[in-house]
Amino acid sequence: MVVFGGTFNPVHLAHTHVVKEILRLLEPDGLYVVPAAVPPHKPGKKIVSAEHRMAMLKMAMAGLPVVLSDVELKRKGTSFTVDTLRTLRQEVGPESELYLTMGVDAFFDFHTWRDEKLILSMAGIIVVNRPGTPHGDLPVGELQSYLTDRIDSGYAWDPAQKRFVHPTLCGIVPLSVTLVSPLSSTDVRTCIEQGDRPTDLLHPEVLRYIEDKGLYR
Ligand code: ATP
Repeated sequence: MVVFGGTFNPVHLAHTHVVKEILRLLEPDGLYVVPAAVPPHKPGKKIVSAEHRMAMLKMAMAGLPVVLSDVELKRKGTSFTVDTLRTLRQEVGPESELYLTMGVDAFFDFHTWRDEKLILSMAGIIVVNRPGTPHGDLPVGELQSYLTDRIDSGYAWDPAQKRFVHPTLCGIVPLSVTLVSPLSSTDVRTCIEQGDRPTDLLHPEVLRYIEDKGLYR
């Protein structure tokens, strides 16, 4: 089972593209999209309500075989991934393999996450390329240095499996998805703040929703 978490403030076309590519390339037995209630890594950003972000996710992911999970929205306080994985593990049972997906920008911040080693004992990580960010094209050598220096020296690249393996922790899988665009939610918000219409960045229904509700002005 694959988990794709984020703030989705708002969900944009690159998020949807990443989800479609995971479904196509990995054919997971389930894909949970998990919006954060209070993300630990986005201090100071203006975040619209969970209800708005969930409504937009429903529009952007309509027709895709994914579960939009409110596991973090139901919890009080900061949304720590370690807590989310504990809950999802109970939901999916002990047999299913768990994978957490994140863009490579988020991955290079992973050593600052709460209980990062515990997370790695509970779930593998799928690291997706993200053009326009440092290390955006997933260079194996830089990922290896990051893992060794910041996480644990036990990781080694396995060329046959195309992943980093570890004697006791779960694997780290770099996944290059095709034609992913450099856009971000920040770009969307900036565009709207400036009075423009980000038609190329958003699902049309999401754009209509933002305009109807007057979000991000
Ligand atoms: P913001 O600009 O507000 O920081 P964001 O665009 O990075 O937001 P998030 O909701 O934080 O969006 O992203 C959720 C996940 O999606 C993260 O793991 C992030 O790395 C990944 N992601 C977001 N945009 C892209 C993109 N263009 N390509 C690949 N991954 C992306």
